[in-house]
Amino acid sequence: MNRKKIVAGNWKMNTLYSDAIALAGNILAKTSAFKDIEKIIFPPFPFINDVAILLQSQPGFYTGAQNCSSFEKGAFTGEVSAPMLKSIGANYVLIGHSERRAYFKEDAKTLSLKIEQAFQAGLNVVYCFGEALAERKSGVHQRIVKTQLQEILSVMPQDKISDLVLAYEPVWAIGTGETATPPQAQDMHAFVRNCLVELFNKEVAEQIPILYGGSCNARNARELFNCPDVDGGLIGGASLNADEFSEIVKSF
Ligand code: PEP
Repeated sequence: MNRKKIVAGNWKMNTLYSDAIALAGNILAKTSAFKDIEKIIFPPFPFINDVAILLQSQPGFYTGAQNCSSFEKGAFTGEVSAPMLKSIGANYVLIGHSERRAYFKEDAKTLSLKIEQAFQAGLNVVYCFGEALAERKSGVHQRIVKTQLQEILSVMPQDKISDLVLAYEPVWAIGTGETATPPQAQDMHAFVRNCLVELFNKEVAEQIPILYGGSCNARNARELFNCPDVDGGLIGGASLNADEFSEIVKSF
């Protein structure tokens, strides 16, 4: 099965305007030759429009938001809706990142509402999930991940499956410098694909890209991307450096 290969950069709450535009331009210059790899950049909200303008006519490049509101519009001061994001050129939105779950207490109900909003607005979704260190140590990591998939994907409209990307991000590997080993990543990605067979069917399971995220960098990306069920990476810290990010794009 020829699944999409994707390298996505989550800039989190980093960069000021001029840094963001320069970084996007450098990433574009260094990776545009790699047309078969989908590159998705997730800048902070205020820079999405300008990054999208820079990338929108470039084959294989997409722009995304790191979050969206669970409401469509109205009196929700400070929120940013999925239709607003779509209207400024966003193609994707990240939902369920562990930092949103931990610091902003986003639970399964909130995440399903956000996914519904995103799909209704015509955005593609990168749904993030993964276990905490204590959960891995106590051997319940697969059960945790299965629950995180079931509670979201069982309510997902079947006709939106092709707009969905998954990102397995063990919480203990995010921003810690500790990466899952390739066997750990492959085991979990294969397990996730089996969950997709149970939730949907084999054909759908084979089609959905599953990215690995958690201290992925230019030194470990090749081994991780070589795993049969790892279809690319969601990159945090290393996406803030155009050289490093472009090396990761070249790691397939
Ligand atoms: C992330 O935030 O999604 C992430 C994977 O971060 P890092 O690469 O810095 O671990």
